Amino acid sequence: MIEMRSDTFTLPTEQMLAAMTSAPLGDDVYGEDPTVRELEETSAQLTGKEAACFLPSGTMANLCAIMAQVPRGAKVIVGDESDIYLYEAAGASVCAGAAYEPVRTDEEGRLPLDGLAAAFPADPDDPQFALPALICLENTHNRAGGIVLDEAYLRAVRDFADERGVPVHLDGARLFNAALAAGTTVEAVARHADTVQFCLSKGLSAPVGSMLTGPAEVIGRARRVRKLLGGGMRQAGVLAAAGLIAVTRMPQRLAEDHANALRLAEGLAQLPGVTLDPKRVQTNIVLFRLADMPWERFVAETADLGLRVAEFGHGRIRAVTHRGVSRADVDRAVEIVGRVVAR
Ligand SMILES: *Cc1c(COP(=O)(O)O)cnc(C)c1O
Repeated sequence: MIEMRSDTFTLPTEQMLAAMTSAPLGDDVYGEDPTVRELEETSAQLTGKEAACFLPSGTMANLCAIMAQVPRGAKVIVGDESDIYLYEAAGASVCAGAAYEPVRTDEEGRLPLDGLAAAFPADPDDPQFALPALICLENTHNRAGGIVLDEAYLRAVRDFADERGVPVHLDGARLFNAALAAGTTVEAVARHADTVQFCLSKGLSAPVGSMLTGPAEVIGRARRVRKLLGGGMRQAGVLAAAGLIAVTRMPQRLAEDHANALRLAEGLAQLPGVTLDPKRVQTNIVLFRLADMPWERFVAETADLGLRVAEFGHGRIRAVTHRGVSRADVDRAVEIVGRVVAR
């Protein structure tokens, strides 16, 4: 089976499995797991932040960032197409007592500055308004098709946030893909945000985990929230050992995923019945539409022929490349889609 539903299907590497069995361990709730500490120090350094916290998932990392920075009754500004808003079970409302302020997302995954501005009340002293306390961006932007936010935009949001006195959180689930595609470092991509979340468990191939990095004081509060949410893990070094390999050894190979995604897009774009612009493929995500076939039928028939892809809202299909998808798999996938749409 060629698995293109998500890069979360990546399995741990041999090297990760070996590291997991030999990592030095301790009780991380006491702050005594040396492998977790090393992963946190490495992640803070890589993203140019003071501190980092190891978390079980990207969802919990985003929620910890929100709960550490947004008071009850305040608002968190999110994209209306963001993972935080759509796919994280309304954690900010349920756990943080915060209101989501969804801002319309443009084609490039950006929240336009006028949309951000409209989220702030004209008179902040008027007691009927909840006040925005955090702006959340996503890079790469998943529902925009793995699009990378450009540096000028990130800087503009930073300046906007500074004028309003609110912090910026970056949901960088695919931060390393963003840095690679932008031809820069993860530190540079993270620079304009106060806190950054990135997933170890997607293209980086670790089995479990995400990192939240940021100012020491904020990360300290996030650690308390992590415990409250039940995310305090004991000998978590077993997982952090794989995470260390994910951040130090795996970013180098993401270029292969990006090349495969482009190859897939170029192949699919040739097929009658498939609508796709390969120029919009910047990282490891390919979105396309079908001219005359209901997605349910398409997904079922490609699966029967050995290819798994996912429905992705707004009538689109998503295919994601990752370490478990070879160049030959990509060519085979194009062939399978060609057969299904020709039926
Ligand atoms: C996958 C993802 C998350 C959530 O990560 P989990 O580890 O699955 O909870 C958050 N944001 C984006 C953009 C993602 O793609």
